[in-house]
Amino acid sequence: MLRFDALSEVRQRKPLPVSSCERLSDLFAQNVFHEGAMRERMTREVFESVMNSIRRGTKIDRHIADQVAMAMREWAISKGATHYTHWFQPLTGGTAEKHDAFFDPISSREAIEHFSGNLLVQQESDASSFPNGGIRNTFEARGYTAWDPSSPPFVYENVLCIPTIFIAYTGAALDNKTPLLKALTAIDKAATQVAQLFDKHVSHVTTTLGCEQEYFLIDKSLVATRPDLLITGRTLLGHQAAKGQQLEDHYLGAIPSRVLAYMKELERECLLLGIPVKTRHNEVAPNQFELAPIFSEANRAVDQNALLMHLMRKVAEKHDFTVLFHEKPFIGVNGSGKHNNWSLSTDTGVNLLSPGKTPMSNLQFLTFFLCTIRAVHRYEAILRASVASATNDYRLGANEAPPAIISVFIGEQLTKILQTLIQGGDKEISQKETLNVINKIPDLFIDTTDRNRTSPFAFTGNKFEFRAVGSSANCGKPMMVLNTIVAKQLTDFKKEVDSLLNSSGKKSLKKEEAILKVLRSYAKASKPILFEGDGYSKAWEEEAAKRGLSNHKTTPQALKENVSETAIALFEEMKVLSRTELLARYDIDLEEYIKTVQIEARVLGDIARNHIIPTAVRYQNILIENVQGLKDIFGEGYRELAFEQIDLIQHISEHIKEIHSKVSLMVETRKKVNNLPSVEEKALAYCQEVRPFFDPIRYHCDKLELMIDDELWTLTKYRELLFNN
Ligand code: ADP
Ligand code: MG
Repeated sequence: MLRFDALSEVRQRKPLPVSSCERLSDLFAQNVFHEGAMRERMTREVFESVMNSIRRGTKIDRHIADQVAMAMREWAISKGATHYTHWFQPLTGGTAEKHDAFFDPISSREAIEHFSGNLLVQQESDASSFPNGGIRNTFEARGYTAWDPSSPPFVYENVLCIPTIFIAYTGAALDNKTPLLKALTAIDKAATQVAQLFDKHVSHVTTTLGCEQEYFLIDKSLVATRPDLLITGRTLLGHQAAKGQQLEDHYLGAIPSRVLAYMKELERECLLLGIPVKTRHNEVAPNQFELAPIFSEANRAVDQNALLMHLMRKVAEKHDFTVLFHEKPFIGVNGSGKHNNWSLSTDTGVNLLSPGKTPMSNLQFLTFFLCTIRAVHRYEAILRASVASATNDYRLGANEAPPAIISVFIGEQLTKILQTLIQGGDKEISQKETLNVINKIPDLFIDTTDRNRTSPFAFTGNKFEFRAVGSSANCGKPMMVLNTIVAKQLTDFKKEVDSLLNSSGKKSLKKEEAILKVLRSYAKASKPILFEGDGYSKAWEEEAAKRGLSNHKTTPQALKENVSETAIALFEEMKVLSRTELLARYDIDLEEYIKTVQIEARVLGDIARNHIIPTAVRYQNILIENVQGLKDIFGEGYRELAFEQIDLIQHISEHIKEIHSKVSLMVETRKKVNNLPSVEEKALAYCQEVRPFFDPIRYHCDKLELMIDDELWTLTKYRELLFNN
């Protein structure tokens, strides 16, 4: 579509009508096979067996599975389902599904609705073209999907979707969910042991997660005029608009009516599927918005975020929008992230990262708080790697998002408390002193922690907020890593406390004293990761380097940490990922990086050559004709009259020349790089040799945009993309 046709189409658009008389609470989870729906349709024995496997992770036997399948099928059909699918999250970062009909012919004239326990519990996936990093040989390309009963099935668009894990025939994980579930098991075990130091009644600890999803919404006809947005999700060129976000008039401003109609329909769809969406608002950049659900158990929250992204795309189509999940679709305005709000909660109903009212509960808070900080410090490079992607590279450190350096922000009050704790020195800690320290934790300081927006990992009163996660990411990955490292730290903590309690010889310590002693050592050791200042500043980069913190600005550098001996030992010890799986994932991530940069390079080359240069030549010809005309009329006097035109003609030629030579060189470099023998070298070369062409090519194209007649310019401009909704 042409730019001006698209613009006139957009001008005529009206918000779609949305029904507004429904009570949202009536819609909630109507299309989810949740506990209530199960109870209604299952015998007591079957229901309890399923609940047991949800709560304890026990296996469901075949006889029970058949009955569950029957109940699920009946329920799904009552919701209009005709098909079912195992719904999983392969390592592409998206979701995958293959629909099968319930329908089964039993003779040439008769058919029944069929769905058995076998079909529910496990399926062989014939999808052999998912990324597997060499785990699946071509001669043994089988993969399996297996039901994850801890995430409830749902009906969407007449399909019963059953959340599943995705593994190779060897058992190696081919998805994000499998290792996440293992990490959640690891942290449950480790955190329960630690929580029992404070309360014997705790028997399970779950991870809670609330994901704030940021996104851009651009009219789909406008996107259709931009091959870069269409194919790569970001603008590879385009001069910044005269107005960006400098007036700060978009953040929390009135939501445009077409966007509001979109949000309402989206929220309705979310509620039906049990996604507890709560908050919607305009974000800082023009046409940027945020949607945040109420937090829930992490595995469900991850599934729900994946589903949310799918719904966002679907509903956008109906409203003639394109959703951009890219972390940095436009230069000069903010990019998008997905803050992961994370905490731990016991089955006795206690948020372990919430300071309590008694000294003991405060000591418990301090324990989980410090173990998290210590874990982030020890494994900062691995945590950084968990959010690495070609697209997030454009956002991290871009002066509006956290830098590539991981640090922890805890606010003034908690900083003081840790200082008091450290000042105790190495002398034995008395019971009285113990109480003194922990009593200093004010019992109500939620939201008094000032919000340092520059921090990648901030404590916000009763949870940590991991802000470096990119908006297009599958949260399963960062959550798998965060839970693994904290599980490891809690395991170590328990060992250290136990050894102090059991040490013979010298008088062994009381429990509180032992805990405090270990915490004091953690507070001391973790000092380098704590940072309260401006994360965007140059000074912090220098300071962080002195503190020994990593600062991997690009994905290939960052990812290498995933296969370090430290990482392999960590994931193997916690039984989350094996060496083979880690190496496979490393390959997959590098491949994805290469492909992303490769596609961007191709699209940029194409636009520069096939859109920009021809348009520039066309305009230059008009100028030449004009100059020629002036010469015909005024003779030698034309030079003065055509001064501007001649100057432009020259400049256009210079820019064309630069674009041409840079694009040619980029193509040559790409060909050379493609022949490198290993993915590792290739990824690094794409990063260090191909990507550096992007900005200079863009520079010359953007200069031309400013010179050339607006009427001739084919690509929709920034001002039109960002200020048209
Ligand atoms: P912000 O001010 O950072 O935009 P919001 O209140 O919009 O914060 O979002 C915070 C997110 O944190 C919400 O999704 C909320 O449900 C979630 N959250 C609150 N408490 C917890 C908790 N204990 N564990 C995990 N997430 C939580
Ligand atoms: Mg937030």
